[in-house]
Amino acid sequence: VIEIRDLHKTYGALEVLKGVDMVARKGEVVSLIGSSGSGKSTLLRCANLLEDSHQGDIRFEGEPVKWSGTGMNRRPGDHKQLIRIRTNLSMVFQQFNLWAHMTILENVMEAPVTVLKRDKAQVEALGRELLAKVGIGDKCDVYPAQLSGGQQQRAAIARALAMEPKALLFDEPTSALDPELEQEVVKVIKQLAQEGRTMLLVTHDMRLAADVSDHVVFLHKGKIEEEGPPETLFRSPKTDRLMQFLSHSI
Ligand code: ATP
Ligand code: MG
Repeated sequence: VIEIRDLHKTYGALEVLKGVDMVARKGEVVSLIGSSGSGKSTLLRCANLLEDSHQGDIRFEGEPVKWSGTGMNRRPGDHKQLIRIRTNLSMVFQQFNLWAHMTILENVMEAPVTVLKRDKAQVEALGRELLAKVGIGDKCDVYPAQLSGGQQQRAAIARALAMEPKALLFDEPTSALDPELEQEVVKVIKQLAQEGRTMLLVTHDMRLAADVSDHVVFLHKGKIEEEGPPETLFRSPKTDRLMQFLSHSI
């Protein structure tokens, strides 16, 4: 679904991604781990074109992103393609980012109705179904402030699913939550993995990464230091850096 080759990204003089390759095939869960500042969020944001990257290739379902300009001026060049890719790679953020002035159901319905121009009644039915699926079917008509963090994050996941995306991108979806609320969200992510959803997951939760991933990528200072299936990566890390990282994060 997503294929990234030799991706580079700089902020001013700071090179944040230094030639990263990453592939998520249909039905795969790929987790990104690494210390703070290693470039995980940046990579995720570049993958769905929320952020410009300055060199390298990104393909969505085999279709190469069309760029205009080069180097620091490189931008996605085809607006329709940009929208198509972004809506198909739905993102869930650390800080849920729900719209405070809309009910939970309205939050879930907003993008499918306004961006995808889908039929309102159909989207409403889908929205109710998705909210029930993530366990908050009774919260359709309340506002985000009336929900716990775990419930808000599950609403954000339902909102991402309402776009019927080809893949879900999670950026530390559980790190703003208390441990017991975290588990509610972990349960939903595991369920999505079992359904065979394609997911890119940035997480600090090594147990979650080990449980749901087909492939784990360890990013260090903008480069892939080590990667592999979770069994290998977590049980027998090869590099000192990964060993060190894992010893601090379990
Ligand atoms: P964390 O685990 O703390 O979320 P991360 O691995 O997600 O870290 P990024 O957010 O991708 O790291 O940031 C990578 C580097 O890029 C950091 O050094 C950060 O300071 C820098 N950076 C990120 N966003 C910007 C920005 N908009 N402008 C300038 N520098 C940025
Ligand atoms: Mg981050």
